[in-house]
Amino acid sequence: MILVTGGAGYIGSHCVLALIEKGLNVCVFDNLSTGNIRIIKDLKKIKDFEFVEGDLTKFEEINNIFKNYNIESVIHFAAFSQVQESTIDPQKYYINNVYGTLNLLKAMLENNVKKIVFSSTAATYGEPLYIPIDENHPQNPINPYGKSKLMIENIMDDYEKAYNLKSVRLRYFNVVGADKKARIGELHNPETHLIPNILKSVFEKNKEFKIFGINYDTKDGTCVRDYINVEDLVQAHILALDYLNKGGNTNYFNLGTTIGNTVKEVFDSCEKITGKKISVCIEGKRAGDPATLVADNSKIRKVLNWEPSRTLDESIKTAYEWEKYYRSNK
Ligand code: UDP
Repeated sequence: MILVTGGAGYIGSHCVLALIEKGLNVCVFDNLSTGNIRIIKDLKKIKDFEFVEGDLTKFEEINNIFKNYNIESVIHFAAFSQVQESTIDPQKYYINNVYGTLNLLKAMLENNVKKIVFSSTAATYGEPLYIPIDENHPQNPINPYGKSKLMIENIMDDYEKAYNLKSVRLRYFNVVGADKKARIGELHNPETHLIPNILKSVFEKNKEFKIFGINYDTKDGTCVRDYINVEDLVQAHILALDYLNKGGNTNYFNLGTTIGNTVKEVFDSCEKITGKKISVCIEGKRAGDPATLVADNSKIRKVLNWEPSRTLDESIKTAYEWEKYYRSNK
């Protein structure tokens, strides 16, 4: 059985969907702090799986999962992930992300489970020194969120040396889109991400979409990001798990497309795909936003034979379909 921590969250739930559709046995562990029980219920309608509400910061709660279920490997999504919030309340991030993961790893070791796929982030690189960013780029995170993820990567290196615990760390760029059948999608509260925020302005009267900064050193002055489709991203987790199951060593990979798009380009695509005129205004830069973040993904292509298959437009379409479905089935 595969343990998925954070399986009620945006990315975790799409991974659970892919795993259950492959007929794999899954146990989801989630404290529902940012995850959503509605998503679990919707997933269970597709195919049943184990769901346990629990918190990684309580060792007994996570240890009981390993005692009660035959867990062979772990995909670890559970984390707080808002950069800005992490600068205001770093303790929240270090306790949940770092201490919570320490408990998870402790429970794994006590129960002799030695394979984990971990959600890391491009935020571990900090301000880019060059673009595209490859895995050899120095890791100098500039906010507590990125630091918490880098701490875990470092801890995993030490645990491999000492306890032979094998990990694959996937450093996500900007994850977007939803299930192609619109059964699940992104549900954050508050929503801070670009595409859901643009789409909100399609549905909510008087809600202007805010562009954060138009004076960046980019082709149109707005930030450039590498938008990777959530289903493509999930496939990489499944390949990473296969890699570990076949005896692969600890490794780490960027998960991005190598294609950079500006905020204005994403906005224009949203207008085109929805066929709606979306109201927009210009705001100041958001603290800690680098001008450009684009991945070099050659390592994961080569080692895991992964490649992205969905375009940004396809991701926007699925996000839009999900938004429509969710709003009419609240
Ligand atoms: N962004 C924006 N308006 C929003 C949300 C995001 O202009 O309402 C911009 C943000 O400044 C960044 C890009 O969109 O340049 C992607 O932001 P997001 O929060 O989706 O992901 P991040 O890059 O912070 O992980």
